[in-house]
Formats: sequence, C-alpha cells, structure tokens
Amino acid sequence: MRLDADITYIPGVGAKRAELLKKEIGITTVADLLAYYPYKYVDRSRFYYVRDIDETMPHIQIKGRILSTEYVGEGRTKRYVAHFSDGTGFVDLVWFQGVRYVEGKYRLNTDYIVFGKPNRFGSRINIAHPEIEPYLEQKAQTTQGFQPMYNTTEKMKSNFLNSNALRKIIKTALGIVGDEKETLPDWLIKKYALYPRSKTLEQIHFPQNTDSLNKARHRLKFEELFYIQLSILRQSKYREQRYRGFVFGKVGDIFNNFYEKCLPFSLTAAQKRVLKEIRSDMNSGRQMNRLLQGDVGSGKTIVALMSALIALDNNFQACMMAPTEILAIQHFQTFEQLVRPLGIKIALLTGSTKKSERALLHKQLRDGTLQLLIGTHALLEDNVEFQNLGFVVIDEQHRFGVAQRAKLWTKNVQPPHILVMTATPIPRTLAMTLYGDLDVSVLNELPPGRKPIQTFHYFDNKRNALNGFLLNQIEKGYQIYVVYPLIQESEKMDLKNLEDGFLYIKEHFPSYKVSMVHGKMKPTEKELEMHRFLIGETQIMVATTVIEVGVNVPNASVMVIENAERFGLSQLHQLRGRVGRGAEQSYCILMSKYELTKETRQRLETMVRTNDGFEIAEADLQLRGPGDIDGTQQSGLPFDLKIANLAQDGKLLQFAREVAQEILQTDPFLESEQNTLLLSQLEKMQRNAINWSSIS
Ligand code: ADP
Ligand code: MG
Repeated sequence: MRLDADITYIPGVGAKRAELLKKEIGITTVADLLAYYPYKYVDRSRFYYVRDIDETMPHIQIKGRILSTEYVGEGRTKRYVAHFSDGTGFVDLVWFQGVRYVEGKYRLNTDYIVFGKPNRFGSRINIAHPEIEPYLEQKAQTTQGFQPMYNTTEKMKSNFLNSNALRKIIKTALGIVGDEKETLPDWLIKKYALYPRSKTLEQIHFPQNTDSLNKARHRLKFEELFYIQLSILRQSKYREQRYRGFVFGKVGDIFNNFYEKCLPFSLTAAQKRVLKEIRSDMNSGRQMNRLLQGDVGSGKTIVALMSALIALDNNFQACMMAPTEILAIQHFQTFEQLVRPLGIKIALLTGSTKKSERALLHKQLRDGTLQLLIGTHALLEDNVEFQNLGFVVIDEQHRFGVAQRAKLWTKNVQPPHILVMTATPIPRTLAMTLYGDLDVSVLNELPPGRKPIQTFHYFDNKRNALNGFLLNQIEKGYQIYVVYPLIQESEKMDLKNLEDGFLYIKEHFPSYKVSMVHGKMKPTEKELEMHRFLIGETQIMVATTVIEVGVNVPNASVMVIENAERFGLSQLHQLRGRVGRGAEQSYCILMSKYELTKETRQRLETMVRTNDGFEIAEADLQLRGPGDIDGTQQSGLPFDLKIANLAQDGKLLQFAREVAQEILQTDPFLESEQNTLLLSQLEKMQRNAINWSSIS
C-alpha cells in the first residue's frame, strides 16, 4: 500500500471513521496516520496487585476476575459496575457510556487483564472505561513492553475511536505499508548512526524497550529539525546569490555631524559594536538582513536612527515602521528633535495622516525630497513609493506578520537593507528556527546610571499600603502607570474593570490628574492622553496594554499591573520596561488574585526574581512551550513541529544545524547525486508549507 493512500484502504477504517479522523485530528492519508505519534507510553510488561494500586498511579494493568456486575445510580448518574478482584483486593470497573456494548460481553470468574487509570471514588478505588482482554490471548503480548497512548477528542471517544482503537488501526497500517521509503540519504543515516525510517516508525509506535524508543525519537526529532535548518540556510544562500545589496560606501557629513553635534549622550559599547556590524553589512555588497535584539531600554532607537543616517549619506532614503501609532509618533518626535540642526527632511505617515498631507508626502517620497519616513503599517500601502529606498527599520518586529515584512522588500527595484528590532528577547533555539537566516546583533548592555527595577507581587490585602506608596512617589514628582488586561476576549468586563480602576484611582488621588488610554479610543484621543502624560500634565496613566511597546516616559517610576495573572511572561516584562528609563529607582508592582495555578505563581516569581529579558524568555519557553511565545504565531514558523520541542531539544537543534551547514558548504544547491533525496524532500515540504521564500 502506498503511503499517500487514503486511510479507508486500511482494514478497519470505514467511511465514518475516516471522516472522524479527518475532521477531528486532520488525518487523511496513511502517511498522516503513521505520523500521528503517541503522546506517551505505558509499561505493560508487569502486573500490579490490586491491593497496591491507588489514585496517584498512571495507567497500569492488573490481572484477575469479575465477581459480579450491577447497575448503580439513576438517570444521568446511572452506571454499570463490575466488581473485580485478583485475590489481593477489590476494585470497581465502571462504565458511564456504551453500557449496552459492555453488558454481557465479559464472563464471570474468567481471567482477564484489565488496563486503565485508577481513580478514587469515596473510599473505593475504581477504573473507569477500562480496557479488558482475555488473559490467555494476552500472554504473548505482555512481553511486548510499551503500549502507545494516542490523543483523541471527546467526539472520537464517544464514537469508539479511542486510543485503543487508534492503536489497532496503526498496527494494521504498519503491517501492510511494507518497507517505508527513506526520507534521509543513506550516507547520512550511516554517518550519524540513525535508525532507518521503517524501523523508526515501528519503534515510535510500538517500542520494544526504552532504548529503541529513544533511538526512534532521536531520528524523528533530528529529521524534523534538520530539514528546517537545511531549508532556511539554503534559502539564505539562494537569496545571497540572487540579490546584490546596495553599497553604502561612505560615512558622510550627516552621520558625522550628528555624532559630533546632536547626539545627547555617549553611546554604550554595545551600541557602538552593533553600529559597526550594521555599517559593515551595508558596505559588503550583500543585502543586510539583521535582527537587533536588545532588552527594553537598551537603546535600540538611536542605533536605528544612526544607521538610517548612513543611508542618507549615500543618497538613499530610509524608513522606519512601528507597530502602533503612539509609538510611531514618539519615534518621529524624538528623531525630528534630534536631527533638527542637520536640516534633514523627515515626516510621519500613519493611518490618521490627512489626505492632503498624504498626497504631498507621496509626491516628496517619489521625487526624493523626503529623506526619512517614520510610520505605521500605513507605509506598506502600494501608493507609498520611494525614489530610492535603501534602508528599512522594523521596530518591535514580532508585532508584524511575515507578509507585512516581506512587503518592504518590494519598495525598491532591489531590496533595501533591513534591520528588524525586537525587545522580546528570543531564546537562542527559537531564534535559530524562526530567524535562522538572519544575522543577529545583541545590545547586551543598558545605558549607564540605570538602577535595576524592583518588582513585587502583592494581593489585594496590600491595596492600602500600595496607595500610600503611590502617593509618596507622586509627591516626589514621579508618574505612575496602572495597567489592566487587554480589552478583548471579554470585552465588556475588561472595559468595566478598566473604568472602575480609573474611578477608583481618581477617588483615591483627588488632588492629582489621571489619564486613561485603551484600544477602543480614537487614535487622536489616545494620542492626546499619551501626550498629556508625557509632558507631565497628568500624574497617573490608567491603561490597557496599548502602552506595552516602546513608549518612553522617563519620569514614570512605578508600573502597577492589575490582574497580573492574566499576562504572559514576556508581556509582563515588556510592560515593566516602561519604567526604569530614567536615573531614579523605579518599581513594578504585580497585583493578582489569591488563587493562582502553579504555572502562574512561577511566572510571577520569575518576574520578581529577575530583570534579565533573556532569562525571562527562557523561562517563558519552558513554562508555556514555543507555540505561545509572543510573536511566534505571527512570525510564521514555516513548519509545524510534530515531535521536536524547542524548549528541550536545543542541543539537537544545534547539531542538526551544523549538519545542514556542512552539507551546504560543499553543495549549496543540493545538486550532487548523494543529495538528490534532500532536495526532493525539501521541495515536498515546501509545497505543503506556506509560501515563505525570500521573506525575512
Ligand atoms: P529600546 O531599546 O527599548 O527601544 P530606547 O531606544 O527607547 O530603548 O532607549 C531608552 C532610553 O534610553 C531613551 O530615553 C534613550 O534616549 C536613552 N538612551 C539610549 N541610549 C543611551 C545612551 N547610550 N546613554 C544614555 N541614554 C541612552
Ligand atoms: Mg524601542
């Protein structure tokens, strides 16, 4: 049977099951089915005594007899119970559903193997919906070792397509597909002592022992990570060949004058180093694709501006895209003020830019009089045409989708140099997977004189003390943020929380002025309130996470985060980064409800413990898994990870990358005969993935 055959060709899979498999877990072909790996395995090589089992145990197996059966309860709680014993104790086998199917199926006083998860019900131990097999037939199977468990949905279960049924189907399928076609070249399998494909599939589903299971896992994880790396690295080689980069040969008057006359502070060593890296990219003849990672407050903006000045020095235009209007405005104002003495033509373009103004902007961009453009995604619109765009900065890049970033590539006949910046530090393993083809610069140093932010986690019983503390800070002349969860899922409730919070603050701080900003306000209103806070007209800013990224109010000394349990780690870290921007001691207060899950408690503890964005990102990855990390969804990981886990398989990823690099070193386009399989596999994968070629 062919691997791409429909699953209905497998005996035991009829139209109804096929439909379920497709709808519920996306399986249509035999290959899909075999790639549906178990989520865990149960050791079936030993029997437990009934007297030894308790509700803390995972799935176990016992051997014994059914002594009697009965119906218990009425109506919705009615259930079928078999009283089971192995001579050492008693356990109840219980069915809530499918009773008609079970009733009369098992004989009394006959040896059975019972398999399931023990639970406690009052003083008795029971096993609900156990799996039961006659003892004799089972004999041969007890030596089989590990039994795979598959994830199934409620709907599948209620249609008798549970883990057990899936296991039988997969077993049948493995029996008839015959030798699986290899998906890695022979030489590679030999060189790295990997399991061959068919053995791998057999052992991942029905492992003989721990060792063979580990080897099967290793091969599958390696393969998955290896092809991703191969694909990314090959793509970047291709891109390098296809596109030349604009050559910015000189650092001229604009840059030098800025450096000497306008720069309000001296650069940190890290800023200088990163500027050098960027400068050398711009002069290399290759198109730059660089990711600038730097914790909040590390001073990325000035690096972006100065890089743009190099483009201007070489008679190119530059632009910078920010994810929110507030941020774009702030960048624009900062830049305009900084470069004012240089007489540079600089402008702002957002969704709220007036039509007449817009027309003028478009014209000046086309004829080249406008040199530096700051804006939101409004920059991406087709009618925004540059005369000669040479350099693009994308701030807080994780806020943008792949397609949006790709659009900027097309704004000149050959792609401009691209600098993407992020304050969401990405753990190394994730960066290698997501941005494996980008060069990475890191600002690992904060400007001098900053005091580390002190973070505390409080419950509501500290509310009065907190108010006293806030009052004290305001009296000293500082400002305060109070942040509420984003208005979204339960829009009405969130908005109410925010408005209640606003009223509460006004009531408790009657002699001070309070601003409120949230995502449902008109951009102009938002901007006005932000501005009032920025210039110190209001002392307290009550807001949702719209203030999360980038905004800079150095006089703010306290960040209070309400319902902190509802925020992710990296989001909390971003919010905290809004304070601590001046030289004074600043504080972050996490307010939460009393009952917290273990994970949430760990999250808040991490925040209290450390200010290090990279440590927080690692913790986030460990706690939540990569799928949930801010930005991974939008940034469009081109392939699903079925079995490898970025949080755990960092070493293997590194290894897979090295293997891919080594191959491409000698055969960049996979043209040699020994690599034809690699090429065809890549092409197959890319047909199934989204179109992501030439996207950074
Ligand atoms: P982020 O990396 O989070 O975008 P910013 O670029 O907004 O950080 O910088 C944060 C603050 O630090 C700004 O007020 C900026 O003017 C200031 N800053 C940046 N670089 C330096 C420096 N080398 N010395 C002193 N202050 C600096
Ligand atoms: Mg920033």
